[in-house]
Amino acid sequence: MITFKSQDDIKRMRRAGRIVADVHSAMREIIRPGMDTMTLDEHAERIIAAESAAPSFKGYRVRGIRDPFPGAICVSINDEVVHGIPSRGRILGDGDIVSVDVGAFADGFHGDAACTYAVGRISPERENLMSVTLRALHIGVETAGPGCTIGDIGHAIEQWVLSNGCGVVREYSGHGIGRKLHEPPQVPNYGRPGSGITLKPGMTFCIEPMVMSGREPIRSLDNGWTIVTRDGSDAAHFEHALLVTESGVEILTPWE
Ligand code: MG
Repeated sequence: MITFKSQDDIKRMRRAGRIVADVHSAMREIIRPGMDTMTLDEHAERIIAAESAAPSFKGYRVRGIRDPFPGAICVSINDEVVHGIPSRGRILGDGDIVSVDVGAFADGFHGDAACTYAVGRISPERENLMSVTLRALHIGVETAGPGCTIGDIGHAIEQWVLSNGCGVVREYSGHGIGRKLHEPPQVPNYGRPGSGITLKPGMTFCIEPMVMSGREPIRSLDNGWTIVTRDGSDAAHFEHALLVTESGVEILTPWE
């Protein structure tokens, strides 16, 4: 069921979103070559705990995957699309791109946002993939508003990504968000204009384009969690949580 948020709910969701944005500010500051991904996780968890909040992803369970997600955040490097597991042995290299997905649960509500960061100096190809994906998010945000459908958003994102020679991940989607991390509706990064439910003020949801430099489908690693591109091409991921207002949308996770 799609939930509509009260003014009080929205106040809490802004706070959860602000915590997520604070974690991203810290990530932008500290990410550099030679750092292991567990260090990023520890930083994130400390910031979230200091706000008396909890990391949304830690302990998250999905049917079909034996172990709950062990990290506070997801850290996905290069050909990893989403759900990379933080690890002491995983070191960021100069020229890598790293996608960090952050969720925080505060005052009964979740915030959720992702951003891909450049590690040191990256290639023009990776630079391009990141800018196409970030623009895809912005196109989704600009399209969204009262009266717009889920299909309108997906269509706008997909058209942009394909016209730039990149591929859209179809197996994972944006989602409603609130008291639960994942609520209806699903918000795919593809679609037909006018299809799906119509957005109304008070709905809260995430737009999160996951874009690949290739066009192949994805696969999961043996840990059950981490999703990688099948052809080894790079992937990028940007996400905002949004509130539908009377005139458009409000970004609840202001990390930019
Ligand atoms: Mg999300």
